[in-house]
Amino acid sequence: MKILVIEDEPKVADFIKKGLEEQSYHVALAYDGLLGEKLALHNEYDLVILDLILPGINGLEVCRHIRQHRADVPILMLTALGATKDKVAGLEAGADDYLVKPFHFEELVARVKALARRRLLISPGIIYRVADLEVDAYRRTAQRAGKEIVLTAKEFSLLEFLCINKNRVLSRAYIAESVWGSNYDKGTNLIDVYINYLRSKIDKGSDTPLIHTVIGMGYVLKEKETC
Ligand code: CA
Repeated sequence: MKILVIEDEPKVADFIKKGLEEQSYHVALAYDGLLGEKLALHNEYDLVILDLILPGINGLEVCRHIRQHRADVPILMLTALGATKDKVAGLEAGADDYLVKPFHFEELVARVKALARRRLLISPGIIYRVADLEVDAYRRTAQRAGKEIVLTAKEFSLLEFLCINKNRVLSRAYIAESVWGSNYDKGTNLIDVYINYLRSKIDKGSDTPLIHTVIGMGYVLKEKETC
């Protein structure tokens, strides 16, 4: 699951990001409303966590704009304002749920899960397809040419991240930051090791490899070798 967090207080933003990454979510951060809105409109997220008071353009505006163009993405509003009229304004702007700061991280996670569940009830779950590879983000299973592939939790997170970014060349640093988060030790070749694990499970024995190395840049998941 890919979550966008729009929050201008770096401490709070980093705390949310770190916590959600520990729960195996992929997290993108925006420290202001304009960037947040841009990211939300140009990328696919499964959830947006949106702070109400932001510099430049406030959370209500951002929420309205996202809603106009992306009717389906769940939005969780976050704010220090606990008054009923502020909650109502947030919900009327199109937010699906509301959490008042300060909050316990467990409560945030519970809301995130509830919104994700609600979304899956209306959308049939997310299945990524690349050639004959099928990755079910809801059931967290993968198969190639109809054959089930057994993956560890980390291997699955890496594969899911490659699927979300299909055809896009990803640097090792970006993969590390997105899949391993702050737990990543930069002195290791962990990414290459895990890419090799995935290759041995997904591409081994196939005439059409899907995980490609782009020398000097990183890795890409794609159907054909075109560059
Ligand atoms: Ca704020």
